Amino acid sequence: MASVERSEEQKKKVVVIGGGVGGSFLAYNIQHCADVVLIDQKEYFEVPWANLRSMVDPSFAARSVINHIDYLTKVKVIVSSAVNITENEVLTADGQTFAYDYLVVATGHEESVPKTRTERLSWYQAEFEKISSANSVLIVGGGPTGVELASEIAYDFPNKKVKLVHRGPRLLEYISTRASEKALEWLTSKKVEVILDQSINLKSMQDGAIQTSAGVTIHADCHFICTGKPMGSSWLRSTVLKDRMDICGRLMVDENLRVRGFKKVFAIGDITDINELKVGYLVQKHAIMTAKNLKMLMMGRNESKMATYKPGFPFAVVSLGRKEALAHLPLFTLIGCIPGMIKSRDLFVGKTRKQLGLKPNLA
Ligand SMILES: Cc1cc2nc3c(=O)[nH]c(=O)nc-3n(C[C@H](O)[C@H](O)[C@H](O)COP(=O)(O)OP(=O)(O)OC[C@H]3O[C@@H](n4cnc5c(N)ncnc54)[C@H](O)[C@@H]3O)c2cc1C
Repeated sequence: MASVERSEEQKKKVVVIGGGVGGSFLAYNIQHCADVVLIDQKEYFEVPWANLRSMVDPSFAARSVINHIDYLTKVKVIVSSAVNITENEVLTADGQTFAYDYLVVATGHEESVPKTRTERLSWYQAEFEKISSANSVLIVGGGPTGVELASEIAYDFPNKKVKLVHRGPRLLEYISTRASEKALEWLTSKKVEVILDQSINLKSMQDGAIQTSAGVTIHADCHFICTGKPMGSSWLRSTVLKDRMDICGRLMVDENLRVRGFKKVFAIGDITDINELKVGYLVQKHAIMTAKNLKMLMMGRNESKMATYKPGFPFAVVSLGRKEALAHLPLFTLIGCIPGMIKSRDLFVGKTRKQLGLKPNLA
């Protein structure tokens, strides 16, 4: 693909909406061969698998929250929300309009996070202080985020009383029962109290006491809501793509990851309706394949030559504190430290930074 570099006038306009794993990797990979605009609600990329560690160790965030302009040296970065898409333009909340030859939608999940890196680092510091000054912590939600956060706190602050309340019958319901059992065993061994089959109405919280749906009163100095986030697609409902969303708000894509019925509009990442686990390493595969396809199209090659996507292998890793993780594959579930597969999150953050052309910065 070396010959794709073009003079400024020849370059096609590619607009990428969303600066998470998918959008950032894609923009990075095509920045030298297209006139790329990245529209993101925030000025930085953040390694998502470092979020929970950063809450117990804010120095971690300094390595995993990276300003877009530090690695997207050739990209025009617009810090605003996309609010509308037409057949050839994207409109942002601050009133700007960007024409495109190709558009890539990568708005993943909706999350309200600070706009600037400085504010994001202060947010982590405040979360850390909240956890360190509490004797008891309540975590609501037993999916990967709730389990990982409970394990980070239990590992770094072994004397705190940590309770995790989950509405379902088992933790990590998106993977096997074996994985749920292993996670429960690990948390219980670290003295985390796991309450299953009960939900919490946060509005009922008074003076740090809260009732579960079964009438159990929980006292907690602080709490964290780790329930699922909505898709980052509600804004698409008034755009040309409104009829290309499934009932969960995901964009329906074809085998080339183009939005069905749209030749110039691609969608990648968690926002797509691809039947696979919604995980970052697969989102990176979407981005890399789409970058190749875009480069090919921009060179004028026939679209029938585009690469096609096959749903990814269902492999999930859930971190358990600093040293261990749970790895789930269809046939087995492992817990422990397996060289090359199970992390150190530091290694994963380092790898992500390297993939974005930055120093791994593992110090
Ligand atoms: C706590 C946590 C831990 C995880 N751990 C792992 C792990 O260990 N391994 C793994 O493989 N995966 C992990 N994942 C999953 C992985 O992070 C996601 O699959 C991945 O982030 C999805 O990437 P994305 O680009 O589709 O969306 P996102 O990363 O959600 O990015 C969406 C981006 O779009 C922006 N955006 C949204 N709406 C708009 C708009 N209207 N205009 C402009 N910008 C907009 C947002 O600001 C955001 O930057 C984890 C996720 C979380 C939350």
